[in-house]
Amino acid sequence: MIPRPFEYHVPRTLPEAIALLGELGDEAKLLAGGHSLLPMMKLRFAEPGHLIDLGKLSELKGIREVASEICIGAMTTENELIWSTLLQAKCPLIVEGARQISDPQVRYRGTLGGDISHGDPGNDHPALMLALDASFVLAGGQGKRVVPADGFFLGTYMTLLEPGEIMTEIRIPVPQAGTGSCYAKLKRKTGDFATAAAAVTLRMSNGAVSDVRIALTNVAPTALRAAAAEQSLLGKPLDEAAIAEAARLAMDVCEPVADLRGDIEYKTAMAGEMTRRALTTAYSRAAH
Ligand SMILES: Cc1cc2nc3c(=O)[nH]c(=O)nc-3n(C[C@H](O)[C@H](O)[C@H](O)COP(=O)(O)OP(=O)(O)OC[C@H]3O[C@@H](n4cnc5c(N)ncnc54)[C@H](O)[C@@H]3O)c2cc1C
Repeated sequence: MIPRPFEYHVPRTLPEAIALLGELGDEAKLLAGGHSLLPMMKLRFAEPGHLIDLGKLSELKGIREVASEICIGAMTTENELIWSTLLQAKCPLIVEGARQISDPQVRYRGTLGGDISHGDPGNDHPALMLALDASFVLAGGQGKRVVPADGFFLGTYMTLLEPGEIMTEIRIPVPQAGTGSCYAKLKRKTGDFATAAAAVTLRMSNGAVSDVRIALTNVAPTALRAAAAEQSLLGKPLDEAAIAEAARLAMDVCEPVADLRGDIEYKTAMAGEMTRRALTTAYSRAAH
């Protein structure tokens, strides 16, 4: 299908983009990689009269370490995440997650900021961000604010982003040395979204779990943390029984919808299985 006609704007600076967004209001949509927005426009689920292309804003690009955080510009593409030697060395979970997103074509265009801002529970970065305890910089007419990933995702396609705001940067605390992590994703074929997936970060100390975060993809209206599963592991050795119990508790928080990827029972079971696999692999990668 063909989208409705729209006007195309290419601001050169962030203040220019924010001003345009304020001026055009609800009629405008931000365009990043376009790999979620353009399909929706072609199906006429989204019918913006104006597109504001963020592609020329160099301040929204790049990956750098600042003090104890890794700061990633919102317009950084999936492939740039995958190729980043800084992320490979210090935050391999993002690299592992990005490598499992769709196919090479999508990864050349799709951006980290777009994947998060879209608020699609099928997208992979929301759960990765929850597991990494990330925060997001949102800039608007009133200035900038920094919000945690935990609490950012309000519902399907709904986030804390206000209409006049642009996500400019993603901040991730540098994982401590010895942290193990894993993103376990079940998909039917290359290019498909997750049937279910689990992101885990894990630290061990004196034979016991000292820190763990577990987040799930595509088994609820938003990416979600499995808080009870995390709690069940803290302070204990990570043996098979503990992992099985955490997987059971992760399944308890799932509310998937049945679709071509499976029915509710199957998707819930797969969320448990992905949790089990992610915990097992994260453990094998953690120092202990
Ligand atoms: C065939 C196919 C398979 C896919 N499979 C997966 C998958 O397995 N996993 C996955 O995670 N994703 C998948 N995607 C989605 C893909 O990763 C998209 O690129 C991503 O969801 C959106 O990023 P984008 O840069 O393309 O954003 P766009 O499509 O340009 O924008 C998406 C939405 O976010 C808003 N937006 C974008 N950037 C910002 C910003 N900086 N601030 C505020 N709002 C912003 C836009 O206005 C729009 O509403 C798939 C896409 C396709 C076409």
